[in-house]
Amino acid sequence: MAGSYRKKKGSDTWHFCSNCSRWPTSDYDETTSYNGTGELCNECKAKRDAGDCK
Ligand SMILES: [Zn+2]
Repeated sequence: MAGSYRKKKGSDTWHFCSNCSRWPTSDYDETTSYNGTGELCNECKAKRDAGDCK
């Protein structure tokens, strides 16, 4: 879902591409307004840069 961020509970890394290989599908926190806390997933950033973020 576009515009949402997910973070696995116990992790500090936020994912924002649902096609990320590490996109959490259970036991996660979700937000639509990333507030700068924690880190953004490098794989998600690479997908975004490549125009392949879904
Ligand atoms: Zn990711």
